[in-house]
Amino acid sequence: MRISDTRKITIAGAGLAGSLLAVFLSRRGFAVDVFERNPDPRGGSAPAGRSINLALAERGRHALQLAGLLTEVDRNTIPMRGRLLHQPGGALSLQPYGKDASEVIWSAHRERLNCCLLDAAQANPNVSLHFDRKLEDVDWQARSLRCSDQRGNSHEHGFEVLIGADGGGSAVRNALLRVTELGVSEELLEHGYRELTMPPGPDGAHPMDPNALHIWPRGGFMLIALPNADGSFTATLFLANEGDPGFARLQDWPAQNAFMREHFPDAVPLLSRLREDFHDKPVGLLGTIRCRQWFYRDRALLLGDAAHAVVPFHGQGMNAAFEDCVEFMHCLDRGDRDWQGLFEDFQRRRIDNANAIADMALENYHVMRDAVRDPRYLLRKALEHELERRHPDHFVARYSLVMFHRLPYEEAYRRGTLQAGILDRLLADAESLDQVNFELAARLVGERLETLPPEAGDRG
Ligand SMILES: Cc1cc2nc3c(=O)[nH]c(=O)nc-3n(C[C@H](O)[C@H](O)[C@H](O)COP(=O)(O)OP(=O)(O)OC[C@H]3O[C@@H](n4cnc5c(N)ncnc54)[C@H](O)[C@@H]3O)c2cc1C
Repeated sequence: MRISDTRKITIAGAGLAGSLLAVFLSRRGFAVDVFERNPDPRGGSAPAGRSINLALAERGRHALQLAGLLTEVDRNTIPMRGRLLHQPGGALSLQPYGKDASEVIWSAHRERLNCCLLDAAQANPNVSLHFDRKLEDVDWQARSLRCSDQRGNSHEHGFEVLIGADGGGSAVRNALLRVTELGVSEELLEHGYRELTMPPGPDGAHPMDPNALHIWPRGGFMLIALPNADGSFTATLFLANEGDPGFARLQDWPAQNAFMREHFPDAVPLLSRLREDFHDKPVGLLGTIRCRQWFYRDRALLLGDAAHAVVPFHGQGMNAAFEDCVEFMHCLDRGDRDWQGLFEDFQRRRIDNANAIADMALENYHVMRDAVRDPRYLLRKALEHELERRHPDHFVARYSLVMFHRLPYEEAYRRGTLQAGILDRLLADAESLDQVNFELAARLVGERLETLPPEAGDRG
């Protein structure tokens, strides 16, 4: 089927990527049908999501800007200027994220962000949102979906083109696996997570510095907390599922309480629902999903977590999913053709980037829970920022390339590897910044790093 012959695009999943894509597509004049298994979150009946808040960075913000929604979204975001480390003895130290105060990451409330995207989608009469419609199966020959509702009724819907934006457990992906090879690999992390509530202080204000991501790194595990606009924080405990310490050993309140008091004594008084949270909230699983193929003929394409779920330690899953939406629109701009041609194009442009951010997210897992405490790591960060200051057109810390720039992830990874070689060389015989040989640094940067390309222009 050719793009120009298509009247309607069907999206499975009205989560972050599905609702943003619906906004973009409807504004291009397509009719869009969206099927979501949950009730409408704007009715106040949202089920517990996968995380209450999320770090929103440049890639995601750029996509929201293109959709004209960034100002609205920013009503509920909070800038975080760095990681605020809570040491075991209670000492605090701030590690700025960027080279200066302009480089911050934003804490966004997932549900409010999702509702804002749904409102924007629904503002266009071309969009039909169908809640309480869980995709169960797809008849690829007949181009027909079967969905169920919470009362157990079954609903059939025809489709022309189907986009699977239905998250890591994608039903579209499962339906595709019945007719084609996707080369799916699922790599579960040995660590899980549990969200803990930190309500506002008595005066309604944040109980800790709101402009930072708080982190209690403890080697094999960690607690983090991101601010919410209502004065609360959402804390997340990342811990091994098995072993000691591990969630499996923390089965009752005495064990849970003792563990938290031993390792996070300054956080416990602020986690006023600790007992209930341990009792009520399940341990979430974390993993990486990669596929070698993201589409099936001219029928269907996977994007966002459905195609490439990553562990959350770089705060990029949503950002990457939003970037997918922008890239999809860019592929549409490349002229009329059949959908398979567009899907191939999209996959070619995104798949190596998705694999690169999956790898960087796994690496960052070790950085956050462990390396941030190491003085050598701090020296390395300081040197990165110094080289960035001295050679801004050539050297930008890999973390910054991912969070504050839109250079393709794959390219950020590649440059990061070259830069790591330079840092290793310079730090081999330096114990502090003033012992670094900056003449050698200038030579290595000039020899090994090409000038950074200009960022891709606006599109969407
Ligand atoms: C603990 C944690 C912390 C995270 N922190 C960050 C962060 O700080 N920054 C960041 O960028 N990313 C973060 N992420 C990743 C981020 O949540 C995902 O990458 C992002 O939600 C992907 O968007 P999506 O639209 O592809 O999938 P989702 O947001 O999962 O949306 C999928 C939608 O499809 C619906 N659906 C599922 N199955 C069906 C079905 N059968 N039929 C119909 N509908 C269906 C779901 O209900 C949902 O609405 C985090 C993830 C976790 C688990």
